Amino acid sequence: MFCYQCQEALKNEGCKVNGMCGKKGDTAALQDVLIYVVKGLAVIAQKCATVDKEVGDYIAKALFITITNANFDNASISNVIKQGLKLREEIKAKYNVAGELDDSAVWSGETEAEFAAKAETVGVLATENEDVRSLRELLVYGLKGIAAYADHARVLGYIDDSVYAFFVEALASTTKDLTVDEMVAMVLKAGEIAVSVMAILDKANTETYGNPEITEVNIGVGTKPGILISGHDLKDMKELLERTKGSGVDVYTHGEMLPANYYPEFKKYDNFIGNYGNSWWVQDKEFESFNGPILMTTNCLVPPKDSYKDRVFTTGCVAFTGVKHIAGDLENGSKDFSEIIEMAKTCKSPVAIEKGSIVGGFAHNQVLALADKVVDAVKSGAVRKFVVMAGCDGRQKGRSYYTEFAEKLPKDTIILTAGCAKFRYNKLQLGDIGGIPRVLDAGQCNDSYSLAVVALKLKEVFGLEDINDLPIAYNIAWYEQKAVAVLLALLSLGVKNIHLGPTLPTFVSPNVLKVLVKNFNIAPIGDVDADIKKMVG
Ligand code: SF4
Ligand code: SF4
Repeated sequence: MFCYQCQEALKNEGCKVNGMCGKKGDTAALQDVLIYVVKGLAVIAQKCATVDKEVGDYIAKALFITITNANFDNASISNVIKQGLKLREEIKAKYNVAGELDDSAVWSGETEAEFAAKAETVGVLATENEDVRSLRELLVYGLKGIAAYADHARVLGYIDDSVYAFFVEALASTTKDLTVDEMVAMVLKAGEIAVSVMAILDKANTETYGNPEITEVNIGVGTKPGILISGHDLKDMKELLERTKGSGVDVYTHGEMLPANYYPEFKKYDNFIGNYGNSWWVQDKEFESFNGPILMTTNCLVPPKDSYKDRVFTTGCVAFTGVKHIAGDLENGSKDFSEIIEMAKTCKSPVAIEKGSIVGGFAHNQVLALADKVVDAVKSGAVRKFVVMAGCDGRQKGRSYYTEFAEKLPKDTIILTAGCAKFRYNKLQLGDIGGIPRVLDAGQCNDSYSLAVVALKLKEVFGLEDINDLPIAYNIAWYEQKAVAVLLALLSLGVKNIHLGPTLPTFVSPNVLKVLVKNFNIAPIGDVDADIKKMVG
């Protein structure tokens, strides 16, 4: 295997035997083949009059499955490979696609052994030129993030044909010999599509569940047994709350599901208690003390310990061998959560690991409602600078940088955040500026879109020509491919001078990095004090 798609890649070079994330070599091989199949399907789809919805849905699902910490189950990945090969042939026949085609569009296999053999020649390293490989992988990783967000929007009935058309265009492009300029243009276009898909997901979430509002989220526990739900899928959240209503079972969020607490629709449920624990990587301790069953709705799954493995349930694109998977198998397409609810009833209530509350819910609608206050604070000098500290958290020790950075930021600065990076500083007592909290959490990583909306609004209010003239600095933490999509989205909006850490992506080759530095002045993080001086002055 060779995988270097996330920030945990071994020695910041690449995982070669097994993944630091727990992904085994054989699973990585199947994921390589799945990406190859998706590219082949895109090659065919590009030759058709239109991109069938089935093709777009499939590509989104298949790409999502290969995101870090999503799917560790060989049987389910093999199944998706077979579905893709079948769909490819059906589309070929439907649109009479013939002529000379790329190997990805004609190759076929049926067994895991055949897939494993194919993986030897189609992985990341099959592209020999380091810069071509870098640009192709940067594009594919951005697409994976876009796919995850598209899939969440799709389950709520929001789909945009242009996103599906771009999947096809971009994936097919990776099978062609493009010039460097053409590849760079495709990567930047992925950034534009990332903005669109986050906007679509924002619309899907807010039109379905209301606009997030300022909320004090309980981080303590109740006395009843509970179900812990993690990930990003708000439809799963709604269904779980509906099914557990009146059952004597409470519901708590974990990790990236914390922002569900900010939505009006979910606040209606008395058995929705609050958030338990911190970000995804501490789940091996927190799932143990939670005592009840855990539902993983998207990625962020760490290979479960035997001590709680039988209490973990996966759904959607998530899967782990030996862990129960809940599919959308009820007649109306809903999920049958009865097993997880019945299990919860037999479990002890969670052990408290914290008490008190945290505040969040500063998505665009809420922040724009406070716009006058925010603008006055900037004009009066009470707020010197906003620092966007959105992005990811992870287990690497060096990420304590972000806690220290937040602590040491001058008191006249405000942190804008989204994603799980916030767990590094959202429980610090950083105070407020004239009633505006110094940490404004917009929500999940896809809600980085809210931060962009706010920045564009401020640009308009202050009558500025350039988004980079705003008093906003960017110190972004990344971990996996959704963060790559968010980063490309920021670049497409013209944001410059982003500091990126804790390490720069190893899949960005030195020459590609030069392009990013030249056009966007991207820089790695360094020493906390020096970085604060650079970013805040
Ligand atoms: S996803 Fe990250 S940790 Fe896992 S195998 Fe790939 S690079 Fe390594
Ligand atoms: S914030 Fe980062 S690590 Fe967390 S779910 Fe989003 S992309 Fe993954």
